[in-house]
Amino acid sequence: MDAEQLRECAHKMVDFIADYYKNIESFPVLSQVQPGYLRELLPDSAPACPESLQAVLDDVQNKILPGVTHWQSPEYFAYFPSNSSVAGFLGEMLSAAINMVGFSWITSPAATELEMIVLDWLAKALKLPDEFLSTGKGGGVIQGTASEAVLVVLLAARDKVLRRVGKDAIGKLVAYSSDQTHSALLKACKIAGIHSENCRVLKTDSSTEYSLSPESLSEAISQDIASGLIPFFLCATVGTTSSTAVDPLPALGKISNRNGLWFHVDAAYAGSACICPEFRHYIDGVEEANSFNMNAHKWFLTNFDCSALWVKDRSALIQSLSTNPEFLQNKASQGNMVVDYKDWQIPLGRRFRSLKLWMVLRLYGLENLQAYIRNHVELARKFEELVKLDPRFEVAAPRNFSLVCFRLLPTHQNNLESANTLNRELLDAVNSTGKLFISHTVLSDKYVLRFAVGAPLTEERHVVAAWTTLQEKASELLRKSQE
Ligand code: PLP
Repeated sequence: MDAEQLRECAHKMVDFIADYYKNIESFPVLSQVQPGYLRELLPDSAPACPESLQAVLDDVQNKILPGVTHWQSPEYFAYFPSNSSVAGFLGEMLSAAINMVGFSWITSPAATELEMIVLDWLAKALKLPDEFLSTGKGGGVIQGTASEAVLVVLLAARDKVLRRVGKDAIGKLVAYSSDQTHSALLKACKIAGIHSENCRVLKTDSSTEYSLSPESLSEAISQDIASGLIPFFLCATVGTTSSTAVDPLPALGKISNRNGLWFHVDAAYAGSACICPEFRHYIDGVEEANSFNMNAHKWFLTNFDCSALWVKDRSALIQSLSTNPEFLQNKASQGNMVVDYKDWQIPLGRRFRSLKLWMVLRLYGLENLQAYIRNHVELARKFEELVKLDPRFEVAAPRNFSLVCFRLLPTHQNNLESANTLNRELLDAVNSTGKLFISHTVLSDKYVLRFAVGAPLTEERHVVAAWTTLQEKASELLRKSQE
């Protein structure tokens, strides 16, 4: 690494990136390229001789950016947000600069210690119970994604129960969730060797606003126990992916504890909102949980990837995931004086991800972060009002945070299929304008459009413009359907 060369090239790159952000609204939000477009534009093999940075940047501008979907665009309203920010960006930059691989404390003590401190800070901001702090038997760890978070706690829960009942009982273990739980849980069960017929996906409907009913959980557990099976894991969600439903944590937690289940709370998206006192009640009941997860890379201004996981009993994780080969042994680890995060995750290597979260917390401060969340919730509320004012549309699920689920109503009485087709066509029509990007889900067999506010650059004018495009495209489609 030549420091002067870095200075010159990095300045150029920062200029390029700043211009990208400045002009981000000029790109179609959803990339409009066709599959395989890039192979036609790039050579078949790597160059034999070095090329200039300018040549590469020209290719980024002309060949790569057309194939990018602009998640940071203020007109991005799809899935859930994935925030970037100046602070998060600078933290990523610094982490790339230091470029250490912090699997054990000794490989970079600051990386482990900063992660512990920053996750304690965030746990306090969320008012998590003290048992989740690193000062006791628990602690926080940064995983890459919520999928990794649920996998590692599922493995810990599996091994904890198997230590008690014997390894041969793995075929009897049962995991519980609702039909709104993220598919990451079923993937984790597959990896952990939990039989697919022992994954209880409990039905929800509009009568409970798509949240998991404690009665149906209790019933399922009783039936499984009566059949000689061993209930061992419950994943509840605060802010489901489809509609931001909130499972009733206090009741579910009590049932879990009574039956000896590991209780995991997935607040991947909505956890960020719970730093605001007025939204904190959504995670009431987290005292009953064994583990809690939120993605700082979704709605907390921290660049991807940064998924915060807290556990009350770190030894359960470590017993499942620890390895201790000779070549990694060192005094601090052998003396049990330190945390070695390699034992809290699947891979060995890990990045210095706490830097960006630390920078976000310091450069914004909790008050600004709260204001940031509130602004998005308010923008979503305004969008919801606009939907309600147009009798051709309906709001399809309660809005808890900054996601509005809505749909065009059927033009013929009760014709579900034609309404679904109409909404599918509306989604395609608005997304192909390049002026906004929204996604969809299905709730109670209805095809529903999702408008998730949460991109850092989104302002009221973007929300209003998106609604105008939606209305225009709806009018066109309705006119055509009547011809
Ligand atoms: N859980 C919930 C509630 C989510 O909304 C998502 C993704 O949107 C996930 C889990 C999976 O997230 P990740 O991509 O971090 O694995």
